[in-house]
Amino acid sequence: MSASKTLLITGVSSGFGRALAQEALAAGHRVVGTVRNEQARREFEALAAGEAVGRLLDVTDFEAIDGVVAEIEANVGPVDVLVNNAGYGHEGVLEESPLAEMRRQFDVNVFGAVATIKAVLPHMRRRRRGHILNITSMGGHITLPGIAYYCGSKFALEGISEALGKEVKPLGIAVTAVAPGSFRTDWAGRSMVRTPRSIADYDELFAPIREGRQQKSGKQLGDPVKAARAMLQVIDSDSPPAHLLLGSDALGLVRQQISDLTAEIDRWEKTTRSTDG
Ligand code: NAP
Repeated sequence: MSASKTLLITGVSSGFGRALAQEALAAGHRVVGTVRNEQARREFEALAAGEAVGRLLDVTDFEAIDGVVAEIEANVGPVDVLVNNAGYGHEGVLEESPLAEMRRQFDVNVFGAVATIKAVLPHMRRRRRGHILNITSMGGHITLPGIAYYCGSKFALEGISEALGKEVKPLGIAVTAVAPGSFRTDWAGRSMVRTPRSIADYDELFAPIREGRQQKSGKQLGDPVKAARAMLQVIDSDSPPAHLLLGSDALGLVRQQISDLTAEIDRWEKTTRSTDG
């Protein structure tokens, strides 16, 4: 086993966060996990008395985050690894989906993650050591109709993650964007926000997408426990990647996207070059 570390993971009540917490605890790490209610906190702490430490935090409570992290640093110990996992999927055709849903999606998936990073960084920077994992999605590399706000938020987090990695690498801090494919978590079940339908013109495209996602929920290809083990491998690595895909579905779709994009860039190369000078 590698040296024991303290991980701070947002959103440990279910899915990836819970699986990573459990695998990390089993590997001898200490885990501070954030949840959103007292019952979830008690359930989390019961996983491993003293080693599983629960804290209440909604990542959109931006005013509270610095204080929660400072309290953890003071009372639990230095955070070696931050895992920005808390997030959810909004599903809805863009034209049908209110801007308020987009704001909420970005508040949780992007601003919440960045606010948590900003709270942890001063401590990691002082120590010249640390690792930040941002759970993005294959939807941060490829897009699908019906989840435009979600993809937008995950593309944003991928970009922020990569740029941040370049800023903090000289300070001894690594940043990894982890992009899972489809996994058996609560993502497409209780956690998903679905905007009600209102424009018949989108029925043909979108009705089968919504129905298909609902039917597949709980039967996806990916196993969150295996994702957790893969993340622990990255956490143990001396040279962690800036980007990591999880799942063969993510691998196939992202590779296809890269080759389609390259082909399109080549097709339009002359026009692209025509603007110099
Ligand atoms: P999940 O089982 O629904 O877990 C989501 C977790 O995030 C829950 O603990 C939830 O807490 C927490 N959360 C949601 N909003 C929050 C907020 N405002 N503040 C604090 N915590 C909040 O789904 P999951 O798949 O494990 O999701 C984890 C991450 O993986 C998300 O960022 C998701 O977008 C990403 N992801 C999932 C998949 C997939 O196929 N499952 C694929 C790619 C990426 P509550 O219990 O309080 O709601």
